[in-house]
Formats: sequence, structure tokens, C-alpha cells
Amino acid sequence: MSLAEFMAVLETADADALCGPPGLGQGWKVRHIRSGLTRRVLVPYDGIIAFARNPRHGCCEACARMRGSECKHCQCSTCIWQHEVDGKGSPRVTREQVAVLLAKLQTFQFGRKPVVALDE
Ligand SMILES: [Zn+2]
Ligand SMILES: [Zn+2]
Repeated sequence: MSLAEFMAVLETADADALCGPPGLGQGWKVRHIRSGLTRRVLVPYDGIIAFARNPRHGCCEACARMRGSECKHCQCSTCIWQHEVDGKGSPRVTREQVAVLLAKLQTFQFGRKPVVALDE
């Protein structure tokens, strides 16, 4: 499915239906993709839906001092959206997959790559 086709389907699809956006893989709820696009956490980019680089995403000072621990306090739009996806239960998108994604996001901030896709 091309990005244009997907965007057309997304407009009319049921909010609780599962979809597979190009670039993100299968198993996402339509409502979460819509809300990700509205929050600009997700962006259509180069034929896929990708995660936008979020300069505000990071580790708080307290967690930065405890090396190796994952910060759960970040309140950037990406993390708020992640909690939304987690909370409403997306059985096929695991917390591990999202964690991998956020890790990539942090890595790519240094490389200044604008976006990152789950299945690249
Ligand atoms: Zn964050
Ligand atoms: Zn923290």
C-alpha cells in the first residue's frame, strides 16, 4: 500500500480498526496513527509514515545521574503519545518495539537525521 492510499484509507477507517502504515509495520490502531499525525509525532516522509525527530525528547536530570536507567518522566509529545498508545492497549505493538523506536530517536538526534522508521 502506498502512502497516498494509506492516508485515504485512514480518513474513513474505523478508529478502533488495526492498520499497517507504510514504514511502521502492522498492528497499529487507526486512532493512534491519527493522533500521532495530529500531534506531529508521526510525519508522512518520503513515501512512509515515520517518527518525527523530537528535540524535546530526552532524559531528565535525575535519571541522567543514574546511568543505565530509562527515564520515564519525559513529557515531550512523542512520550505523551506513547503513553496514549500503551494505555489503550495495542496488543500487537509491544512496549519493546516502542522502546527500540525511542532509542533510535535519541540516537538519530545526534546524527541530525530528521525521521526514523520502525522497519527500515
Ligand atoms: Zn520524550
Ligand atoms: Zn527521568
